[in-house]
Amino acid sequence: IKKIGVMTSGGDSPGMNAAIRSVVRACAYHNIECFGIYRGYEGMIEGDFVKMDARSVKGIINKGGTILKSARSKEFRTKEGREKAHQQLVKAGIEAFVVIGGDGSFTGAMIFNQEFNFPVMGIPGTIDNDIFGTTHTLGYDTALNTVVEVIDKIRDTASSHNRLFFVEVMGRDVGHIALNVGIGAGAEEILIPEEDLGLERLLESLRRSKKSGKSSSIVVVAEGDKIGKNVFELKDYVEENMTEYEVRVSVLGHMQRGGAPSCFDRVLASRMGVKAVESLIDGHSNFMVGLKNDVIDVTPFDQAVKGKSKINTELLRVSDIMSI
Ligand code: ATP
Repeated sequence: IKKIGVMTSGGDSPGMNAAIRSVVRACAYHNIECFGIYRGYEGMIEGDFVKMDARSVKGIINKGGTILKSARSKEFRTKEGREKAHQQLVKAGIEAFVVIGGDGSFTGAMIFNQEFNFPVMGIPGTIDNDIFGTTHTLGYDTALNTVVEVIDKIRDTASSHNRLFFVEVMGRDVGHIALNVGIGAGAEEILIPEEDLGLERLLESLRRSKKSGKSSSIVVVAEGDKIGKNVFELKDYVEENMTEYEVRVSVLGHMQRGGAPSCFDRVLASRMGVKAVESLIDGHSNFMVGLKNDVIDVTPFDQAVKGKSKINTELLRVSDIMSI
């Protein structure tokens, strides 16, 4: 292999820049030319490629977002779109690419590989940690730290006013963020997509904690919580059924995706980038790199896409015990 492309696709996450830097430098180390593909599959279709060398990626390891920009491409979902993308890669002499993104991006890469027998490797970049085949996706650790810091601040105001806060965090399908920040920030209850706590138990728990002398409470709610009520509906429900607290809601939103990557994410990105490039050099393709038992390993795309990332149920129990 002489030329490798690197791109970011789907939602951005902290650590993507560190991964781009790693791919570019691993290529330079192995005397392979590296091309940045701008705006995900959209830029691939348009041939928006820029040659990158080791110095092109200086000063980005600590930056959130992605210097290559990201996009969602409808056209790449069509055969014609993918044909255009293939022609652009061939024209530029790019023989393989590394895609940093989520499962949608890997599905696209897998289809592209099947159609054109084009070598691809994936690096999981999403704060939700909802990808099978890695205990950590890029950006997840940073997001946990960002969210815990914010909830600490919310607690300051909650405890000054005897308030109950419902804090909505990201996590449509998985409760990794909610569960971990909930424990980390000392939440009273944690509502996640995997478990239905039940509204009655929520009320019970809040009443019990009030009786036991707590002046304020934080309930962390994942976007896709199983109770099926959003944070505003939860507020209304609790206010109708108990008068002990003034209830407030805080929806954290996109700030969770921003910020400088944590040291953990920078190291993970650096390791994953090297593994992706060296796998392509060794003739492997159609795999996602991931972290398993602190070893960087690979998982076939189809497994990574089909498999489900599971929450650690031990954390549910710990959370229960902590909210006594
Ligand atoms: P996240 O959901 O974490 O933000 P993602 O990579 O899953 O990241 P998607 O928007 O699902 O984000 O996918 C990114 C891009 O991958 C899409 O815009 C599309 O171009 C391509 N893609 C996704 N699914 C397919 C598919 N079935 N066929 C071809 N291309 C696809």
